[in-house]
Amino acid sequence: MKLTIVGTGYVGLVTGTGFANLGNDVICLDVDKAKIDLLASGEIPIYEPGLEEMYKRNLKAGRIRLTTDSQKGVHESDIIFICVGTPTNAHKEADLSAVKDVAKAIGQYMNDYKIVVNKSTVPVGTADMVKKIIKDNQQQEIEFDVVSNPEFLREGAAVKDFENPDRIVIGVDRKRAEDIMSSLYRSRERTDKPIMITDIRSAEIIKYASNAMLATRISFMNQLSYLCEKTGADIKQVAKGMGFDNRIGSRFLQAGVGYGGSCFPKDVRALITTLKQNDCDFDLFEAVDRINEKQKSVVVEKLKTAIDVKNSTIAMWGISFKPKTDDIREAPSINIIKELQEMGAKIHACDPVAINNAKNILDDVEFFENPYETIRNCDALIVATEWNEFRNLDMRAVKILLKNPIVIDGRNIYDPKEMKDLGFTYMGIGR
Ligand code: NAD
Repeated sequence: MKLTIVGTGYVGLVTGTGFANLGNDVICLDVDKAKIDLLASGEIPIYEPGLEEMYKRNLKAGRIRLTTDSQKGVHESDIIFICVGTPTNAHKEADLSAVKDVAKAIGQYMNDYKIVVNKSTVPVGTADMVKKIIKDNQQQEIEFDVVSNPEFLREGAAVKDFENPDRIVIGVDRKRAEDIMSSLYRSRERTDKPIMITDIRSAEIIKYASNAMLATRISFMNQLSYLCEKTGADIKQVAKGMGFDNRIGSRFLQAGVGYGGSCFPKDVRALITTLKQNDCDFDLFEAVDRINEKQKSVVVEKLKTAIDVKNSTIAMWGISFKPKTDDIREAPSINIIKELQEMGAKIHACDPVAINNAKNILDDVEFFENPYETIRNCDALIVATEWNEFRNLDMRAVKILLKNPIVIDGRNIYDPKEMKDLGFTYMGIGR
């Protein structure tokens, strides 16, 4: 099939590369010329395991073309995926300006029947808005369909998730679009994972409901972590005991420094706004968001009990919002670093892949490639991201290199007893 993917970020690039790898003819379209030039040269602008090799192979095979030309993108494809960003705006709602721009261009340049797929995370009702914008901008009346096909990929495992998703949700209101979309995803049938055809509005809500549920589980555990600390229990044991229950399951039950990234925080806030706009109660999700905001400061509070932060040098392991990605959008590490700097601390930071992104938004941080070098002569170490690279390091060496053997483990990756036996002042979350 001939596809255009509008927006070549984490979602667009993975989707475009994934569909090209299945033999489709893919145009990747973006307004960011530097990004398109970089992609055309065979480089990719993000870190995502497995993506670079797959991208290069499909580019070389001629199945991926790059452009900044909307007319070309619309003319030369049958299905147009909207994969642009939908960040939070000043009113705490999803900023749909990029989605609107794309819809307008699609209307202007439509030359034939097209399917327009909303893959960006957008509030319920957006498909109708996109439909109206396209119609209002058409030069002549041409038939088209708008479909909701929300994306559930996880950064750090996005290629795997494209190839073997838990489910594919397709919200449609016409048989013609249903048949074409089902045929596009037919190759996924071999994975035996459900392709769920539903109405458009349910598809739009499924995405927000899924992210809000995962965020709720994290805030749920973070709130319980305080009770564990007060009573001498261990939140990891509590999570394990809960997770054995089939009705609950073990995933997304980790207490820590809170969730971050480009999805959960903004999607929970956008859902709250949508609920308000529809005169629905929203208190559960406000609590989820509030607990998460508080949680980002928890390691600083713990640190304050151990040292005078002013004029100290604090080492941080991990900057990305989670392992295996270079994405630092709304990463708790950023809040922690800024809070410590405001209190007069100097920061040393280390991350396997996120340093370049961090340099763009953080001032006065000394970055290191090597975790041991990061901590030399520091007053304490904070673990902000649970990269595997930090799990099996030589903790005896860590103790020698640190000025004070203080470790605040914001992701509970170390064993409290082992750390205490080694002579560390060790503080995890909820343990
Ligand atoms: P991103 O910021 O990485 O990429 C967005 C891209 O869109 C950028 O390259 C930008 O230049 C481009 N763009 C903006 N306006 C454009 C326009 N008018 N025309 C063409 N290109 C334009 O965003 P992302 O992380 O890929 O997220 C995209 C959408 O997918 C969001 O709605 C997000 O909520 C959703 N989503 C993201 C993830 C994730 O893990 N990142 C997962 C599921 C869903």
